[in-house]
Amino acid sequence: MLVMKFGGTSVEDATAIRRLMGIIDRYLPQPLVVVVSAMGKTTNGLLESGRLAAAGLITDARARLGTIAAHHYATAEELAAPTECQSLRADLEARFGTIDKLLEEIAGDGQLTSRRLDALAANGELLSSAIVAAAFRGRGVAGRWVDIRPAMRTNDDFTRAAINFEETDPRLRDLFTAALSGGGLPVTQGFIGSTSGGMTTTIGRGGSDYSAAIIGAALGVDEIQIWTDVDGILSTDPRIVPGAVKLKTISFAEAAELAYFGAKVLHPSTLLPAMAREIPVVVCNSRRPEVRGTTIVRQAPPSRALIKAIAFKRGITVVNVSSDRMLMAHGFLARLFSIFDKYETAIDMVATSEVSVSMTLDDTRHLDLILPELRALGEVTVDRDLALVCLVGEQLKYIPGLAASIFGAIPGINVSMISHGASAINLSFIVDGSRVEDAVRALHDRFFADPDAETFEATSFAASA
Ligand code: ASP
Ligand code: MG
Repeated sequence: MLVMKFGGTSVEDATAIRRLMGIIDRYLPQPLVVVVSAMGKTTNGLLESGRLAAAGLITDARARLGTIAAHHYATAEELAAPTECQSLRADLEARFGTIDKLLEEIAGDGQLTSRRLDALAANGELLSSAIVAAAFRGRGVAGRWVDIRPAMRTNDDFTRAAINFEETDPRLRDLFTAALSGGGLPVTQGFIGSTSGGMTTTIGRGGSDYSAAIIGAALGVDEIQIWTDVDGILSTDPRIVPGAVKLKTISFAEAAELAYFGAKVLHPSTLLPAMAREIPVVVCNSRRPEVRGTTIVRQAPPSRALIKAIAFKRGITVVNVSSDRMLMAHGFLARLFSIFDKYETAIDMVATSEVSVSMTLDDTRHLDLILPELRALGEVTVDRDLALVCLVGEQLKYIPGLAASIFGAIPGINVSMISHGASAINLSFIVDGSRVEDAVRALHDRFFADPDAETFEATSFAASA
């Protein structure tokens, strides 16, 4: 059994959905579950209409919604069987009616709460999945629209709700056992869930990958496929380095580091459920299905590549705290970190000296609250507009001279913080935001001049966005 997840660009219009059906055809009749994102930029559009409504611009909000609706109606009409066209249109109209009412409510009191944001955003996936399921039926395949919400149980932390796996896993098994019975092809939503009280939630932007992995792990599938618009996981961002190469196979640990430290291909949480059940995750290009993508498994085959990939994250802020009280003291770091914990702010990288600590953040939403509390511990300075560069490879920690060759490749670039050795597979450092592209290019030139053919494959980006 398989779970196949298709991202926004892979369902963006009738052409993309036909392509999706062509891909699925290759895998049928084996049992599989299709998970879809919202079409194209629908999620952004829905959220934008909410913001317009909250700003009192209900006419603009409706116009924005109208554009989204027109595109969904046109796509549905192109793909549904003639006999089903009317009922599908009625379903979509009903959903757009609900969204319209919600916009009116938002405009009424100007409150765009996180609960309302989720109620709005969830419609993207509910709409796209209804169209894709109907498109299959239009082709004579038993597409079954499955509302994932009653099974995907989350807490009520709207816009980034956490999954309650204990409740979710058995519900997913029941839901899909029923949906697969008699040769059905379930088509369901990524990104969304519900609280035990039945309120719609979302699990964070880009969360459809994670949904697919949760479903795949619950069902114990053979493979979780993530269909997107690039050929797989690449050695770095091809917009910066056009000669980036594709990784054929990579370990869960390496892929998780890359996802977390800025590679945009996978949602960072995606690999956790797959890793726990040791289910391979394959990242493929829906525009070039003949290309085998990147397979992520527990253990990657041996490679002579020292560095497998270079990721980077812009918009990094470094917070430095220095205090004499740190000198020979214990418990200082615990107090420091508890402040970040209180404001649910993750720290990516830490460097310490005898009397100071530097920490990198990419989420600065609560910095205004964090800084005053930090000042009670010592002198605080903040550096903004930095970037984190992260090199990933199997044995980085154990290669003599590696640090010299990494930093030797970027002689003119100031490195303000380094983290190495905490994980055997990751070396990260901080540079000025304006130099990150230079750094990535220089490092790629240095380490990917002659890529190991066992590990990498040249790829073409003509088809990618
Ligand atoms: N549609 C959602 C988003 O745009 C979820 C996803 O695409 O994974 O964030
Ligand atoms: Mg995505």
